Amino acid sequence: MNIKKQNSLPIIGISATLLTIETGCFIGKERIAVLRDYIDAIALTGGIPIVLPVVEGKDQIEKQMSLVDGLLLSGGYDVSPLFYNEEPQRWLETIRPQRDLYEFELVDVAKKAGKPMFGICRGAQLLNVAFGGTLYQDIGAFFPSAFQHHQTAKPDEAIHSVQISSGSKLSSILGKETLLTNSFHHQSIKDIAPELVENARTFDGIIEGIEGKGEHFVLGVQWHPELMVGKHPIMLSLFRAFIEASRRREE
Ligand code: MN
Repeated sequence: MNIKKQNSLPIIGISATLLTIETGCFIGKERIAVLRDYIDAIALTGGIPIVLPVVEGKDQIEKQMSLVDGLLLSGGYDVSPLFYNEEPQRWLETIRPQRDLYEFELVDVAKKAGKPMFGICRGAQLLNVAFGGTLYQDIGAFFPSAFQHHQTAKPDEAIHSVQISSGSKLSSILGKETLLTNSFHHQSIKDIAPELVENARTFDGIIEGIEGKGEHFVLGVQWHPELMVGKHPIMLSLFRAFIEASRRREE
């Protein structure tokens, strides 16, 4: 039996990205990587971060998920449009379907176990697709007058405002209905999955956040709060809410 101590810190699994090494003696080999900022943000808000490498096989993935109390889906490459029944448009950027499939399995296992999920940037898009939604393959192609959503400003700089839906779980987490965020995405959510609902958007009509309709903690944000926590402490509230939900489950 897996008996955990009361008040122990919840363990948060962070899904890693799959990179192909482009220079040096290991050229062509694959590397499993996570931006350190995710790890630091989880540790800072009371969780124990562990990195989940891309593996294959339901047994491996179920075992990984059994070790964690919550799942953080990190950023990365585009989700393959084949997974939402679209052909690739010419604006599509790099895809790694192996990671997509791995994360779909993670989400499936987490969903069945009722474990909290927090998706950031690609992670939010992945959550939407995993639950049956679709994406715009490129914001600029579909919204020619959209704002800049892939900033050249530093990662901890806010670039656009986001309007938070009143009455949403996100608005109660943040305690406000307008937020300034960074932006590092060229894709965005199109059709929202049936079990999810929009909770944030920019004035140009781009969906910037989603959440679960029910009790299960499922949250996705299109910006990168982990890169902003130092300069914009309000971003910590997102991680705190996620960690708190993961702790509640554990007790
Ligand atoms: Mn944006």
